[in-house]
Amino acid sequence: MMPSTDFFEYQSRSRVFYDRILVGYHDEALRLVERLLNDAETDANGCIVADTIHPKKVRFMGYQDRAYRFVFYVRNRRSPPAGEVVRHRCNNRRCINPDHLVAGTQLENIEDDRDFRANGVDFALLLRG
Ligand SMILES: [Zn+2]
Repeated sequence: MMPSTDFFEYQSRSRVFYDRILVGYHDEALRLVERLLNDAETDANGCIVADTIHPKKVRFMGYQDRAYRFVFYVRNRRSPPAGEVVRHRCNNRRCINPDHLVAGTQLENIEDDRDFRANGVDFALLLRG
């Protein structure tokens, strides 16, 4: 599947946003990450989820992104390289547990979905990191 033009535009806006955070706003961003993690509930699988139906969004410095992406990039002190997406090892897109998030490609994301449908998630494996 070819990523759409929208995807590339979103990616470059996203990269500019995280670059700005890294240069001058990382402490504030980390405080927001801590607040997001504290305000959410931990479920039986160790997933940290907000009380929302869809992935929670977060607003910072006038830019909005999904909370799991914000948590991942701020905590890892990086901005997304072209083509990168944040994957959920737990297959719960509402989850913001940093231990359940990993960088990958769109193709891997699609393969994850297929794999989860076939095999489910081994949460015991996730705990060991
Ligand atoms: Zn999770």
